[in-house]
Amino acid sequence: MSYGPKEFDVDIPSAARAYDYFLGGAHNFAVDRAFADQVLTIAPSVPQVTRLNRSFLQRAVRFQLDQGIRQFLDLGSGIPTVGNVHEIAQQRVPDARVVYVDYEPVAYKYAKTLLEGNPHATIIQADVRDVAAVLEHPETRALLDFSQPIGLLIVGLLLFIGPQDRPEELVAAYRSQLAPGSYLTISHIADEHADPELRAQVARLVAAYAQANEHVYVRTRDEIGAWFQGLELVEPGVAFLPDWRPDSADEAGDVARPLGYGAVARVPV
Ligand code: SAM
Repeated sequence: MSYGPKEFDVDIPSAARAYDYFLGGAHNFAVDRAFADQVLTIAPSVPQVTRLNRSFLQRAVRFQLDQGIRQFLDLGSGIPTVGNVHEIAQQRVPDARVVYVDYEPVAYKYAKTLLEGNPHATIIQADVRDVAAVLEHPETRALLDFSQPIGLLIVGLLLFIGPQDRPEELVAAYRSQLAPGSYLTISHIADEHADPELRAQVARLVAAYAQANEHVYVRTRDEIGAWFQGLELVEPGVAFLPDWRPDSADEAGDVARPLGYGAVARVPV
């Protein structure tokens, strides 16, 4: 199968643009808003979990900066919103390097415009399932030094990669390129918890995304944990998003707390 960038399409809702809408962004179209409003009716906790996911991503990036990581590869980076990876990284380390990857044309175009004049960050438009297209892209090669540790970010992406695309092999293919001391960060939708209403929301969300241009797949904590096998999981391991090294207790009681897992692990030295 061959994978490539997506065509611009305003007739079918896009996961990237619906996510932007959930986060309060303006880079979405009527079809996305109608779809997202329908999702809100059946799964009202979705905007909360998107926010918990973004704040997990930001804490994970700061953690990696603390560990000395100076370059990031962000797969399925989405439409830029407040607190993008390069903003967080370059605030602390002005020449920290970031390569964003997304196949969605709006995400690509807006990020491209935003990053104009930033010599240390770029976006490439590629399908992450085409590993060679990402890793061998001239802009990836120009900005990232694969002989040095990299922060590989796969946040809010694998829920869109179905079993037919073998997510475990995809993660392994990217992992195999990481130098010792690199970090792998993953977040994913979760539905293994006691609250039947939240579980029902996830089931309805999966059904609703059958109409969008990406489908949603739910995985267990063990399945997510398996993607980190052979790496050193950073404490607290695979955790609900707000429980992963929280900055404050603000998010601990969020109704959407059990809807997403996040974890970070280090490639052994
Ligand atoms: N990583 C960001 C975050 O966590 O805030 C954005 C996550 S957003 C939910 C998922 C993004 O993955 C969308 O922008 C979508 O276009 C992108 N995506 C999904 N499947 C992809 C693929 N096969 N190749 C490239 N991008 C993909």
